[in-house]
Amino acid sequence: MAKKQFGIIGLGRFGSYLARTLAEQGQEVVAVDRSEKAVEEISSVVSQAVVADATRKETLEHLGFDKMDTVVVAIGSLAQSVLVTLFLKELGARNIIAKALNEEGAKILSLIGAHRVIIPERDSAIRLARSLVMPNFLDFLPLLPDFYITEVKPPPEFVGKSLKELDLRRKYRVYVIGVKRAFADQIQLLPPADYVIERDDILYLVGHQKDLAALALEG
Ligand code: ADP
Repeated sequence: MAKKQFGIIGLGRFGSYLARTLAEQGQEVVAVDRSEKAVEEISSVVSQAVVADATRKETLEHLGFDKMDTVVVAIGSLAQSVLVTLFLKELGARNIIAKALNEEGAKILSLIGAHRVIIPERDSAIRLARSLVMPNFLDFLPLLPDFYITEVKPPPEFVGKSLKELDLRRKYRVYVIGVKRAFADQIQLLPPADYVIERDDILYLVGHQKDLAALALEG
């Protein structure tokens, strides 16, 4: 699995968990916060941790955020997140994920051009609710440590291709054990090789945690 570069801006609870987890998964992480304490706490874990005000465009450029695979804006204040997202956009950052506190903030950050906006509490509540309602495969399968079943949205390059063409088993060492079309109630288990992926599908994959992570990060 090729190492990817991530920029994490804002090391509050969310940003620091994210930076830590990515680093633990062997990824290259450059973390920034204007608080010295926040930076100090993460500095031994990530590749580079910098005390800086991210609302300065030069800082973002200097740290190379325009060239990274993904930059996550995890600052609490909407005004500052807007500014940082705008500068990242102007610098041509490839994949900007911005954290919002509510739907209005999310809308604004999307309009500015964040490629993906998350509202962590909403998103994790939805995931939890789904997992509580839907029987969890994990409850039934005696999986080995580090092997998981996960649901992912297909990365853009998967859309319009069949499972056979994608050959995920060989390329990523993961198995597609189910698919769910948008608005469908049921998961289609063991989809056939000629199943063609649509943009709003959800794929259920089984594999080693590292291989699943590599694939999820493409999305
Ligand atoms: P969380 O809910 O994830 O804990 P917080 O809003 O509490 O989010 O934390 C956001 C972090 O972002 C704080 O550590 C704060 O110091 C940092 N931060 C806020 N503004 C800036 C900025 N302009 N540049 C860099 N870091 C910032």
